[in-house]
Amino acid sequence: MKVVPVPQLADNYAYLVIDPARAVAGVVDVAEAGPVLEAARRHDVTLTAILSTHHHFDHVAGNESLLDELPKGSVEVYGYSGDAERIPGITRPLDDGEEFELAGLRGRAMFIPAHTRGHLAYYFEADKSVFTGDTMFAGGCGRLFEGDAAQMKASLEKLAALPDDTLVYCGHEYTQGNLRFAATLEPNNAELGRRREEVDALIASGKPSVPTTIAIEKQTNPFLRSASPELVASVQAQVAGLGADPVEVFAATRTLKDSF
Ligand code: ZN
Ligand code: FE
Repeated sequence: MKVVPVPQLADNYAYLVIDPARAVAGVVDVAEAGPVLEAARRHDVTLTAILSTHHHFDHVAGNESLLDELPKGSVEVYGYSGDAERIPGITRPLDDGEEFELAGLRGRAMFIPAHTRGHLAYYFEADKSVFTGDTMFAGGCGRLFEGDAAQMKASLEKLAALPDDTLVYCGHEYTQGNLRFAATLEPNNAELGRRREEVDALIASGKPSVPTTIAIEKQTNPFLRSASPELVASVQAQVAGLGADPVEVFAATRTLKDSF
């Protein structure tokens, strides 16, 4: 597998997921068809699939116009079965755990609701890669639009249970701001400090901060660290009456981030 991030709108990423052996690609989350077609041309691949993580416009607004530009019936559109009515052009509704083939690549849908009630991740086990949309970000997580804190925490933990060396490709370039917030909660987390330097250098040189890895996220993402004593103390200092229950700490962390 070869993965090519394609910047979309202000800070979104679509991703070409390429099977180099067959010069075929799928694309994760199309907001704008133009840059995706241009990237496919540049890498000399035929697009045969759209993998939509969730229904928000900045992830699916380009589905129909991309389909219009490609031979009719040549492109499968994947999305969560329970949210099919909100995924434009869907042809292959997927349930949790369902497997599919993208040229020679084998993928699996992971149902990870909370940002929206129909959110999927696309996991490619053999290629050690997962596309997490707006559920797990590098250093953060999506806002709770259609689910609650307990549900988001469970969805993130499902992703965090993947092997440590899994590459994580998320839906937005929010990493610097996410890590700035993380550092307010864990100023003594040395791994977080190291990661911020790495990300600052990437961004300064015009490069994406993605992919991250499951190992890095477990060490630096405040939404996977609701049991960290330093984080718990920092959140408690800002939220009167907060105990140490991990779901409550998680919910309070999400609320603090909403207004950071
Ligand atoms: Zn979204
Ligand atoms: Fe988004």
